[in-house]
Amino acid sequence: MIDIYNKIKNNDYTVIAGPCAVENKEMIFSIAGLIKAAGADILRGGAYKMRTCVKDFQGLGKAGLKMLHDAGKEFNMPVISEITDLNDIDLFYDLADIIQVGTRNMYNYPLLRALAKTNKPILLKRGMSATINEFLRACEYIEESGNNKIILCERGIRSFDTETRNVLDVGAIAVLKGMSAYPVFADPSHACGRADIVSSLAYASAACGADGVMIEVHENLDAALSDAFQAISIEELDTIIKKSKQIKKIV
Ligand code: PEP
Ligand code: MN
Repeated sequence: MIDIYNKIKNNDYTVIAGPCAVENKEMIFSIAGLIKAAGADILRGGAYKMRTCVKDFQGLGKAGLKMLHDAGKEFNMPVISEITDLNDIDLFYDLADIIQVGTRNMYNYPLLRALAKTNKPILLKRGMSATINEFLRACEYIEESGNNKIILCERGIRSFDTETRNVLDVGAIAVLKGMSAYPVFADPSHACGRADIVSSLAYASAACGADGVMIEVHENLDAALSDAFQAISIEELDTIIKKSKQIKKIV
């Protein structure tokens, strides 16, 4: 198996793309093929969704994770998905190449400690109100258990403004690059929550030195079962990947 963490460390720019949530087998297989053709490196897809409203689509759980895993195998792409529960660690160990810790769980230290023991790469999202210091301190819980395969992900912090879902802290990307040796990614999708400016934020993060990006895409933009407002098309992803790589080269 390829060592995906070393690949990310050696790559100039790595792209993670996929739907917010795995909705069914056909859709995740179809998106997997399309994002690969667009130049993405890693397939994402939520199986356990941390939704604010309990009545909203919560993800397909284990079945969804298996579909993601199978789609990754079919198209020879590593897969990443968010873990929400300590009890699912064995499942994620078997089915995910990178384990994502979401913004709501950055402070879940027992989860971080337990995950570290899997020795899998961990993409740690910044808590929505976490300081940079708290973000880096959370990494120490993973390091202490002997795992140094951490990817930091800036995904927007809370603000008083309501025009965007959060505010992408591009300054934090530049600061983190100076303070830590870990790859620093940006998630423009959750940062803004609206499809029309995802590309702008992706370019800004590349200009601030991001090592990669995680972007939500969907084939049927209005029909996504979660985060439909921020999903972009595969065509737009294709453009973002090309331009972001150029920006990284320039800076
Ligand atoms: C996600 O990436 O699917 C997600 C829920 O992100 P966050 O934890 O940043 O809200
Ligand atoms: Mn989402």
